[in-house]
This record gives sequence, C-alpha cells and structure tokens, in this order.
Amino acid sequence: MTPKYIPRLLLVMGLILSSCLGAFSENKQLPTIVILATGGTIAGAAGSGTQASYKSGAVTIDAMLAAIPGIKDLAKIKGEQISNVGSQDMTVHIMLTLGKRINALLAQKEVDGIVVTHGTDTLEETAFFLNLLVKSAKPVVMVGSMRPSTAVSADGPLNLYNAIGVAIDPNSRGRGVLVVMNDWIHGAHSLTKTSTTAVQTFMSPLRGLVGISSYGKNDFYNNPHWKHTTASEFETANISTLPRVDILYAYAGMPPDLIDASVAGGAKGIVIAGVGNGNMNRASLEAAARAAKKGIVVVRSSRVATGSVGRNVEVNDDELNLVASDELNPQKARILLMLALLKTRTTADIQSLFYTY
Ligand code: ASP
Repeated sequence: MTPKYIPRLLLVMGLILSSCLGAFSENKQLPTIVILATGGTIAGAAGSGTQASYKSGAVTIDAMLAAIPGIKDLAKIKGEQISNVGSQDMTVHIMLTLGKRINALLAQKEVDGIVVTHGTDTLEETAFFLNLLVKSAKPVVMVGSMRPSTAVSADGPLNLYNAIGVAIDPNSRGRGVLVVMNDWIHGAHSLTKTSTTAVQTFMSPLRGLVGISSYGKNDFYNNPHWKHTTASEFETANISTLPRVDILYAYAGMPPDLIDASVAGGAKGIVIAGVGNGNMNRASLEAAARAAKKGIVVVRSSRVATGSVGRNVEVNDDELNLVASDELNPQKARILLMLALLKTRTTADIQSLFYTY
C-alpha cells in the first residue's frame, strides 16, 4: 500500500470503530426489562384469524416478542415463563411464585422493570395482590389481550409494546403495579374488567386512569393514592399459603345457608358481593352475624360496578361486627382479606386495612 492511502485507511478504520462503539454504548444504555409470562389470551392461538374459540397460553414469550416490530429498540428484554394458564386457572400459589420472583428480580441492580403477561379474567386480582406485595418502586406493569395472537387485529402485540414502553419510563416509578391495555394505563387498586369480549374492557370507574400510553410514549396525569408496594406492610417472604376466603353473591331471595355452608367448608373469611351498598336480605345478615360471632371475618362489598360500600349505612356493622369494603370490589376485597387474616382477625383492624389499601 502506498503511503498516500494510509491516512484514508486510518479514517475508515476510525469510522468503523466509532460506529461499533456507538452501537455498543447505545445497546448498553437500553434498560433491562424482564417479562414474566403466565399465559392467557395474549399467549393464545386459534385455528384461524376469525375463529372465536382458541387455546390460552399456547404461545411462548419469544414467539410473542418476535411478532412486535421495533420491540428490541426499546429495551434489553429477557423472558421467563412462570406458568402457562388461562387466568381462570390462576391460583394463590402462582400469584405467590410471581410475587417472590418479582421481588428477587427487582432487587438486582441491572433489572429496571418487570412486565407480566396475564389473562384478563383475573388480571385485576393478581395486579392488586402484587400491588400489596412488591417491595420496589421500580415499574411492574401487567398486560393482557382480548384477542389471541392469531386473530385478525390481535391486540396483544401493541399492548405488549406499550407495556414495555411504560416499564422503561422513569415516570412509572413509585406508582404501584400498573396495567396497560388498549392505550390506557390503570392503577391496580381501581381497574376492573367490564366487558367479556370487547378490546376496551378495562375501566377504572372510581378513580380514573393513571395515564395514557401511545406507541411507547406515555402521559401520566394521576397518581394512585392508596398505600402500595414499598409502603405496604405485607411481605411475600414468610407466606407459603393463604387462608380460604369465599365470595358469595347476594340476590333477591338469597338463602342464608350459603353463608353457613361456607363456614362449614372451612372459610376463615367471607366476602359478600352484596346488592347496592353491600346489602343482603335479613336472613343472610343474621347468618353473617352468626359467622362473625364464630370468628369468621365477613366483609360487605358490592355486586354493583361502581361506588364504595360505606360502614354503618343501611347495615349496623358496629353491632354485627362486620367490615365494609370501601372501594374494593369483591374479588379485590378477597385478596386483601386473605393477606389481612395472616396478621389479625380483629374487625376494627381489618376495617382500617380496607381504608388504607
Ligand atoms: N380466559 C382468558 C384468560 O383470562 C381471557 C383473556 O386472557 O382475555 O386467560
């Protein structure tokens, strides 16, 4: 090579080196997100794009990620399969495994956030459970989908993209467990599933949204004010199982022996999905008071979609020794009651937990 080419060669080598270093440092700066997959429709597959029936939890996390263009530009992503169930089969055991794994991962410096893929049927229960048990301010974002991965206009890929966009956002820190579905960011305390089939199924009717997520860009405008995560007194560390708590649905003519059967079956707590403001007929109220006398904690929640259940409104809770669920719907009241019963069986203490969480 003649000496006149040497400066040009050095220039070309320098450019190659700096672009390699640039790519390296860009990649190094990407946050690390761990996706914990539990199953659900987001991992579901059907025989065709328009078939209503499908199998939940048929697709692996790697296959889900492969279907999302641009996802690798957002974060360094690692996937782990915690379970592979439709969330109608979610159990306290899986929830506990998930909570413990999240706490272990978030304790690692190099993990910046967690995304949990989950079926939508019981997503609100797991979200609220984790909201009480995660011990970190780092983002924990749950996501699902209403259509399986094989459907025409599957909603899972964009939901997952947005969930990762929320999990890498420093503004998500300290807001408790968040749920991202159909561009909306919900807090774990308030969201609930409202449609059996529509893509726009999750609502936060009482407290509103935490924010909006659009193609990975977020706008936060609300902060869940209930105690959660780092401020919560509940710990996964010593829990291996939770006491049985049943939910009983109230209706006109409800037979009181449903409550007696639950007590006989070994429930340590009962949540009534009451009519209106947590009401039930006189005979059932008497059965509830009998159960309370035996040390079973009875919480009055409501089958009505919005509104809170107030203490001593139509029912004299003080006299009957019952608890009012405040803003928690029956399924979330059950989660809080199971955890509360590990600490206390005193009605007054449990009532104050319902005002706090
Ligand atoms: N049954 C499904 C589940 O909860 C529904 C869904 O994911 O949307 O796993």
